[in-house]
Amino acid sequence: MNDTKKYGFTTTILHSDRQKPIEHGSLHKPIHTSVAFGYQDARELASVFQGKQPGFRYGRQGNPTVSALEEKITRMEQGLATICFATGMAAIGSLVQALLRNGDHVVSSSFLFGNTNSLWQTATGQGIEVSFADATDVANVEAALTPQTRMVFVETIANPRTQVADLKRIGQLCRDRGILYVVDNTMTSPYLFRPKMVGASLVVNALTKSIAGHGNVLGGAVTDTGLFDWSRYPNIIETYKRYAQAQWGLAQIRAKALRDFGASLAPESAHHIAVGAETIALRMERECANALALARMLEADKRVAAVHYPGLPSHPQHEIATKLFRACGSLLSFELQPEVDCFDYLNRLKLGVPASNLGDTRTLVIPVAHTIFYEMGPERRASMGIAESLIRVSVGIEDTEDLVEDFRQALDA
Ligand SMILES: *Cc1c(COP(=O)(O)O)cnc(C)c1O
Repeated sequence: MNDTKKYGFTTTILHSDRQKPIEHGSLHKPIHTSVAFGYQDARELASVFQGKQPGFRYGRQGNPTVSALEEKITRMEQGLATICFATGMAAIGSLVQALLRNGDHVVSSSFLFGNTNSLWQTATGQGIEVSFADATDVANVEAALTPQTRMVFVETIANPRTQVADLKRIGQLCRDRGILYVVDNTMTSPYLFRPKMVGASLVVNALTKSIAGHGNVLGGAVTDTGLFDWSRYPNIIETYKRYAQAQWGLAQIRAKALRDFGASLAPESAHHIAVGAETIALRMERECANALALARMLEADKRVAAVHYPGLPSHPQHEIATKLFRACGSLLSFELQPEVDCFDYLNRLKLGVPASNLGDTRTLVIPVAHTIFYEMGPERRASMGIAESLIRVSVGIEDTEDLVEDFRQALDA
């Protein structure tokens, strides 16, 4: 197989490692545990350090197993290059660490993963100004821009209320203004959507979720799509301008975030993620079909007050979602009528497991306001549209009838 032919999504991932020779014809990229990398010629070592030739220096900044995964993610996103991190949050935190300075301004979607919301509070304490905007309409993002805005940050489908950002028009706005556009693609994954299509500069994926897919490993990634003109970004340090311009951003992230901050992905984890990634298309097909079936059943039941799933025609961004995404994802949330206690309901489920993760093969459920969004308090929850009875469901690959029946029987108390 060679790169000149365009293969489909899964074929490309399956044969990604074989693009480069692997020891003994191994079909999986081996797990390289060495922290140090030895060179025959000391000049070669120097040359690797000076960025004049490719090679590994020290495990914190790069590792062959991790690097093979980075190439896989790059292919999935059809980007320029990728850096992997220990977790999805390490990937997002690294962007703040490496690219933003005191006095910079960020516009972030107000519909956000809870820990990213908390991270923006930390950044605020460090002199970065963050404005939250309802990103389902580009007008709100535009109104929040200031001359100091360096970054616009959105999620594709927000967790847990499933609002879909006005992805394409925000991309156009960022391009017109020369602003870095960061899209967290975790909820869609590159199988359902490539943010590069709407002009994203950097794409974040929490590999922990759908890409690894089995709830047995943590990881994160930042992919440069190659669309952003880094010469327009004022925070690039002179040292990294010795690389080709397209590489400035990731060179600075690799050094400032990975080298200096050390949130590196372990090679064993990279292996787990790479194996999981081989079946992402198969899993997502089933998960999205299950999510739609479940959403339809819940919406038709009068004991359910509201269902949030972009695949339902009643969803406010249904049209955008079906236009942009291959399917509408494996995450849905719903609110029960006041007479049904959400804890009692969850306890009646036999298959849905009360647990905090997403993109697992098993269906997981969580009462949002009482757990992952507890810390932010009732006011901020209300502003994010989080009802106190909201149940988030990460839909797994169980047989559709089993899953739908489980959520239905639990209503019949
Ligand atoms: C889970 C998640 C993250 C963080 O990923 P971790 O690997 O758990 O740190 C970031 N963004 C979104 C949208 C997520 O769902």
